[in-house]
Amino acid sequence: MKNKILITLTIITMISQTTPAQETKTRIIHDPHSFADPAIASVKHLDLTLNVDFDKKILTGKASWDIDNRLLETIKEVRNTPPFISFDTRGLTITKVTLNVTELVAEWSLDEPVPFLGSRLKVNITPTTTRINIYYTTSAEADAVQWLSPEQTAGKVYPFLFTQSQAILARTWIPCQDSPGIRFTYNADVTVPKHLLALMSAQNPTVKNDQGKYHFIMSKPIPSYLMALAVGDIVFKPIGKRTGVYAEPVTVEKAAYEFFDMENMLLTAEKLYGPYVWDRYDVIVLPPSFPFGGMENPMLTFATPTILAGDRSLTSLVAHELAHSWSGNLVTNATWNDFWMNEGFTVYFERRIMEALYGKDFADMQAVQGREDLVQTIEELGKDSPDTKLKLALENRDPDDGMNDIAYEKGYSLLRLIENTIGREKFDAFLKQYFAEHSFQVITTEEFLVEFNAKIIQGDTSISNKINLNKWIYEPGLPDNSPVIISERFNKVDEKVKLFLSGTSPDSIDVKGFTTDEWIRFLSKLPAGMSESQMKKLDDVFHFTKSGNSEILGIWFERAITAKYTPAYGALEDFLIQVGRRKFLKPLYSEMAKTPDGMQMAKKIYSKARQNYHSVSRNTIDEILKMNEQ
Ligand SMILES: [Zn+2]
Repeated sequence: MKNKILITLTIITMISQTTPAQETKTRIIHDPHSFADPAIASVKHLDLTLNVDFDKKILTGKASWDIDNRLLETIKEVRNTPPFISFDTRGLTITKVTLNVTELVAEWSLDEPVPFLGSRLKVNITPTTTRINIYYTTSAEADAVQWLSPEQTAGKVYPFLFTQSQAILARTWIPCQDSPGIRFTYNADVTVPKHLLALMSAQNPTVKNDQGKYHFIMSKPIPSYLMALAVGDIVFKPIGKRTGVYAEPVTVEKAAYEFFDMENMLLTAEKLYGPYVWDRYDVIVLPPSFPFGGMENPMLTFATPTILAGDRSLTSLVAHELAHSWSGNLVTNATWNDFWMNEGFTVYFERRIMEALYGKDFADMQAVQGREDLVQTIEELGKDSPDTKLKLALENRDPDDGMNDIAYEKGYSLLRLIENTIGREKFDAFLKQYFAEHSFQVITTEEFLVEFNAKIIQGDTSISNKINLNKWIYEPGLPDNSPVIISERFNKVDEKVKLFLSGTSPDSIDVKGFTTDEWIRFLSKLPAGMSESQMKKLDDVFHFTKSGNSEILGIWFERAITAKYTPAYGALEDFLIQVGRRKFLKPLYSEMAKTPDGMQMAKKIYSKARQNYHSVSRNTIDEILKMNEQ
């Protein structure tokens, strides 16, 4: 296999040096998902010029990288081959490479592509090389980039483009060192068709200009997976002093209404774990094909429109992406094997924000729901599956394989257990210090353990036995000491489900004051063997099929498929053609694929819907429908 050419890096523990704040502190970490060899040279700043061509669906650009050149420190012996710097690329056409500001013609080569990883770009350098200029074009199939036709947008008039770089897709639109451990600042000049606005994970414009030329500055060092671009008929509406929303004109008012509490969220987050360092926090609401709920691109969260429920009930997603401004964007998982360090901490932080804003009973409903999702994921993966460990082993695999509820909810459960064991005050102080001390750096699971042992456990075996960190991190399944969270509000919902199942008519069940979380609970507690007439009774009274809330629709359609409740099928098909968020697609297609009839329906719908999905979602659904064919 080609994977064998991956070089093993020497792991060098850097002797602590004085590092100016917000500068890249380079540590040499072996990342199995990048060809970069930071022991020789790593990037520290990018000047990017990009032209967006909607007709050909390509980006043409020049990426000029300032580098930290460590040749003299590293290469002690004379080598047969000249030394080179390595970049990650996938599907890029490289047209020219030059060195330094003088643009000396460079010697370079592109290796044969490796599955998932793409092709290593090698550029020969000397000890005095300071800058690499790469001229390139993306392919129309670049996995990070989704090109939407006008019909696929909310406004239906202009095309739209957005990128999704996490985990290792940045290399499909920028030649880069695509590892979370390598940070860089960037400036970008992006040219787009005149009637469109461009936005990045950087300081952003708020209005279109006549030239279609936009300049961006990201002055804080970020890893490549946080590189992001969106282009479309986009307008801006401020919410607070540091917050606002971007969206298509037809969506922006709805978005501003939904996110009205954003400034408050930001203040609440700062009160918990220290100052927000990224200046502004804005959210862009994308067209419905965005494959994720949200993506924490710095300064500008990318979000799915499926959280616009009209009643501000799904904004915990914004709290989640905002929390990433600390856990993830400031303190970053060293490799994708440490993904729980990004997501578990973020879910914990998110629920603390929700608790501070809306009360403990509200946050606990989400914690209980998260726990149920976790139990289900463990069941699906198998309780002995190595993929249920917090520390993952994703070598030679697509890191996307590790992006499931384990990192999020098992990670959350562990942090909640720590809070319960040592007390909230002590844990908060630890976290505040953790974010401050590791800002703009990466952290490995092992480094976290060392720090936690030194600062919290301090040799106290009663605490370490109570928590048993090693079991949580290095063993599969859900440990016995995982905290049990009780939600009184959910208990009340469960009683109502029982009433319905024992024959009480839905219109005599009191659902006054039900929030989205309570409806989700209600629907998730309906048994698998619901009859069509039971489904109809519910639908007649609660109108689930016509709900405008995507979370409610998602779970209702799942039940409808199982019960073969055909009156919901039309709405189900519309939903699947319109929405590309993988969280909804995966369970719905999986449920359909369980029976031959359902499989046929799934394939029919997918043939119409597939073109509307991002590659991240397409890959998942391709797999589900193919897998069940055998
Ligand atoms: Zn997240």
